[in-house]
Amino acid sequence: MILQEEILEVLEDYDRKKITVATVGSHSALQILKGAREEGFGTLAICKLGKEVVYQRFRTADEILIVEDYKEMLGEKVLKKLQEKNCILVPHGSLIAYVGAENIENKLKLPIIGNRGIFRYEADRSAERRWLEEAKIKMPKETKNPEEISSLSIVKFPGAKGGRGYFLVNSYGEFVKKSREMLRKKRITEEDLKKATIQEYVPGVNIYISYFYSPLKNEVELFGMDSRYEANIDGLTRIPAVDQANSYIEPSYVVVGNAPMVARESLLGEVFRMGDSIVNVSKKIAPPGMLGAFCLETMVTHKLEFIAFEISTRIVAGTNPFTAGSPYSYLLYGDNMSMGRRIALELKNALKEGKEDLLIT
Ligand code: AMP
Repeated sequence: MILQEEILEVLEDYDRKKITVATVGSHSALQILKGAREEGFGTLAICKLGKEVVYQRFRTADEILIVEDYKEMLGEKVLKKLQEKNCILVPHGSLIAYVGAENIENKLKLPIIGNRGIFRYEADRSAERRWLEEAKIKMPKETKNPEEISSLSIVKFPGAKGGRGYFLVNSYGEFVKKSREMLRKKRITEEDLKKATIQEYVPGVNIYISYFYSPLKNEVELFGMDSRYEANIDGLTRIPAVDQANSYIEPSYVVVGNAPMVARESLLGEVFRMGDSIVNVSKKIAPPGMLGAFCLETMVTHKLEFIAFEISTRIVAGTNPFTAGSPYSYLLYGDNMSMGRRIALELKNALKEGKEDLLIT
């Protein structure tokens, strides 16, 4: 693991008056760059060749650095360029997917806003479960042995499959039948099946809660909520049941976009309890703990209970509907405070107060 001291040494050599906020050109980069500029930083997008058009057309990056592979960020040449431009990196889902949590932890010698030691929890479902359960957050029941499936369950696969190939089963017999079918169609591999997670299916409404933990204020802020549109599961509801039954359509849970959401106000007390508790437990399991943006991904049931099936340990794309602020960020900051801008504001304050060690690893 790259030690924080090593990163603070890199920061020592930076020109404090010319800090550049950098991020991979993907995911939530538009609002990260826009927000950083609004807080007075230079901005840089690292784009894979062919992906730069979005950042050119929206003009949110002062500079675009083209790479052929994002892993070049781990090499001396690109790293030196980024350091020369005094770059501080905002991590997001694409950085983790393309560069890898382990590489970020051990090889990416660039200051990062947030705790580089916490990204690994996203990939490791059992570590994630221990963390959330210790934080007294309810999770769907999990079945290790498919023979024990006794109610409607979702079979999920790890990593970059992004909801593709997930399927629903009611019993062991159905599990065998459907997994054989999925293997035959090459939708999944034997290896995927070995790593599958079988979870109780939670019927409800999906609410993804975006929080910001400010280490400077030692407070968790509620920053926004979204709901996801997934293909084709959300489209299936538009097909009458008889037609569905007559032509079996394999469900998939591939995120296509995000829609803004607000929860019933009476649920917000529990939302804050969960956010505070996640941060408290994180300090113990992965010091210095959760820093900055994170997201709890939940289903809310008809009993108005939150059941969490995942945590993201950085900004999520569910904050993208709120480039000009969310109903919740408005209450704290007024207009125009996106999550991207909030991250830059914390950086600005940390640098001003000489407290960068609280935010940067
Ligand atoms: P995940 O890969 O865990 O983020 O799940 C992708 C999608 O599958 C979610 O956005 C939900 O729509 C759905 N999903 C995952 N787990 C469950 C569950 N236990 N019950 C119901 N739906 C789920």
